[in-house]
Amino acid sequence: MSSTSLAPAPGTKRSLAAFRRARICIDCRTLLGPDERCDGGLAHRVTSLETPEGRAKLVDEVWGPPDARRRAQQLAKAGGGGLGLGSVLEGGCGGCDAIGSEAFFAVIAIVIVAAVVIGVVWLVMKIVEWIRAYMNRPKPHGGLKRPASIGRRGAISGVVQWPAKLDAPATNADCVAWALDLRCKRFLRADLMMHDAETAGFEVKLDDGTTARIPAGRIRLEGPAERLDRSDAPELEKFVKTLAPDVQGPEEFTPHLEVFPYDTVDEVLVRPGDRVQIFGELEREMDPGANVGYRESGAVLVPKGVPAIRVER
Ligand SMILES: [Zn+2]
Repeated sequence: MSSTSLAPAPGTKRSLAAFRRARICIDCRTLLGPDERCDGGLAHRVTSLETPEGRAKLVDEVWGPPDARRRAQQLAKAGGGGLGLGSVLEGGCGGCDAIGSEAFFAVIAIVIVAAVVIGVVWLVMKIVEWIRAYMNRPKPHGGLKRPASIGRRGAISGVVQWPAKLDAPATNADCVAWALDLRCKRFLRADLMMHDAETAGFEVKLDDGTTARIPAGRIRLEGPAERLDRSDAPELEKFVKTLAPDVQGPEEFTPHLEVFPYDTVDEVLVRPGDRVQIFGELEREMDPGANVGYRESGAVLVPKGVPAIRVER
């Protein structure tokens, strides 16, 4: 139960601290609070982000265990090794004076053709070597499962009321809640490396006139996402780095490996005025701020457990 419903002071924004990212699901890479299970249920394995042992489990999933990382380095190294063709190209012709001019030009032509052939062979070998090293470099692996869907049916709808209290980590836009998917591009797909979402708390004016209150903390959020390249979201990088320090990589190629590598980010935002659907069970709570004018009943609806919201846009 996350009942830490701190109403943010008007005019102040809070960023990136609505819950402690203490755990992560290894299977779907969802960040979780302390003692939380994954929304995907017991089949999803969860590990601590706050202990070296816990993080090591995640790193093994992302980059493979340490001996696999060493093997990747050796393979990448094995792609090297030149032919030492330099000596073949060196050395002049010692007895040119004795040869007739036709023969001389024939020899020159042969030498030039040979040099070109050797050059082409050398270039091809370099390309093969580079491709081999590229193929054998350490590659990050995404989650094996998708984050659990919040569902399709049984939702109630309304309009977001609360003023924006958060800066979105990737786009820096004003919002009341955000969700992030960090991905690494792979051949014909993009692996999910991290899924995170939070809210500073907000209210929804439901279609029947009642009010739902979404408390600050972790949230499950779906909706239309904006995709950015990593280079277009420099602030996000700082936030991601605070979640887990880099680990030791195969030194020569990558001395440091990121626990959350990514090259694109998908960001979903909830903003005041957005129509949203709220999934799951809600319970009636007496509203501590019931004397605020527009509320008549003095009661609000609050989601049981982690709020599940879909933005309609
Ligand atoms: Zn999971």
